[in-house]
Amino acid sequence: MVQPAPASPLFWRFNPEIYQRMGMKCSDCGHITYPRRKICPECGSFNVKEHQLSKTGKVHTFCINWTPPPNLEPPIVNVIVDLDGGGRYQGLITEVANPEDVTIGTKVEMVLRKVMTDRGLNIYGYKFRLVEEG
Ligand SMILES: [Zn+2]
Repeated sequence: MVQPAPASPLFWRFNPEIYQRMGMKCSDCGHITYPRRKICPECGSFNVKEHQLSKTGKVHTFCINWTPPPNLEPPIVNVIVDLDGGGRYQGLITEVANPEDVTIGTKVEMVLRKVMTDRGLNIYGYKFRLVEEG
């Protein structure tokens, strides 16, 4: 069976949701949502505009996966992050020696990293790394 080729890096590079962290903010209630929507999920308003999400936040919840999908090295730590200023973003943790160092409320920041290699193409995306407090 022939598999489709991975998406063009050019397509992803100019996708504002992926690399510019573009979400939506409701002009009526102030709710911030990601991915972008045409209707505010909080109040139902159509009065929404683009809003660039923060790169920093705190872990809302996480999961340590010891048997990830192909092309990913175990263990991977998948997190959902409450971003500073509003919005939630899902991603993988990077640059952590011990996955158990990740807890709810841990401060993190987004960094652009290689996510995987698919049929010879490197696929990049945002991951989160722990922020030293002090
Ligand atoms: Zn709203």
